[in-house]
Amino acid sequence: MHYLIYPFTGMVSTWISFQQSVSAWDRVLQILDSPGETRNLPEYIPHKEDVHSIHFRNLCFSYDGEKNVIENFNLSIPAGKIIALVGPSGAGKSTLFKLFLGLYQPTAGSIHLDSQSIKTLSPSALRSSIAYVPQESYLFSGTIRENLLYGRANTTEEELIKAAKIANAHDFIMSLPDKYDTEIGERGVKLSGGQKQRISIARAILKNSSILLLDEATSALDNESEYIIQESLDRLMESRTTFVIAHRLSTIKNADCIIVMDKGQIVAQGRHNYLLKHNDLYARLFHLQFQDKILPHNIGTSP
Ligand code: ATP
Repeated sequence: MHYLIYPFTGMVSTWISFQQSVSAWDRVLQILDSPGETRNLPEYIPHKEDVHSIHFRNLCFSYDGEKNVIENFNLSIPAGKIIALVGPSGAGKSTLFKLFLGLYQPTAGSIHLDSQSIKTLSPSALRSSIAYVPQESYLFSGTIRENLLYGRANTTEEELIKAAKIANAHDFIMSLPDKYDTEIGERGVKLSGGQKQRISIARAILKNSSILLLDEATSALDNESEYIIQESLDRLMESRTTFVIAHRLSTIKNADCIIVMDKGQIVAQGRHNYLLKHNDLYARLFHLQFQDKILPHNIGTSP
């Protein structure tokens, strides 16, 4: 908690006292996705309208002040490209995302959106630039409509339905008893994992940010759900600058560049076929994580 930026600290501890059952991380995500709040600290400057590229510069981070879990990380993600992040458990992938979301401050180095350091952005300016789809979709108790419109009250019915259709969510929503007004229960327990993911994707489509941060779910879905999610995620990534912790075969195959991360550092980068041939760690990870996911619809794109 030491490095968590100041404005979140009080909120997080309050949430923990009131909502032991829901992790503080989930709550922080909820805040990241919420409408702007009033924290106009004087050092913050307004952000530019539309952000396109992401730059990590000599980034270092340590949770305990002793051991760096991110070590001199340098990466530029050009506008409109898909960059996939892979690495063994504990490599630092989630930590990198938390730094990017401004939840922790780097111990050294910086992160820039175009030429602007995220340190100079208010939390609301930062989150308005990024659509974040976490591994486990955060849905709150309420209707599907309320979940989709969270923080975006001015959305028209037409826009809402269009986003749900792109996310392959409209048809299943229309089959529910009260359609968009169906109560989904605490944390969406009445929906399947795949349905929750599609709502989360529709929400990101409505947000319409030029930057997408995506942590793909690891949980197994049946082949049909997997295909539907894959299609909606591919649509979501279209024409956005995407940084994705990849768990799907089609993502790593479509990525413009795959970053292989180990012990907080980049150990290799390139496209799938190149890495498979030239990097032992990538080849091992690929066989562990992805080989069992070569589904019938992936045949023909498999190596
Ligand atoms: P996974 O694929 O299992 O999610 P990861 O690559 O996302 O792993 P991180 O979760 O970023 O890895 O963890 C990087 C390192 O930081 C690990 O050694 C982990 O134990 C440590 N770590 C993560 N979160 C914390 C925390 N809140 N406090 C202290 N150490 C942490």
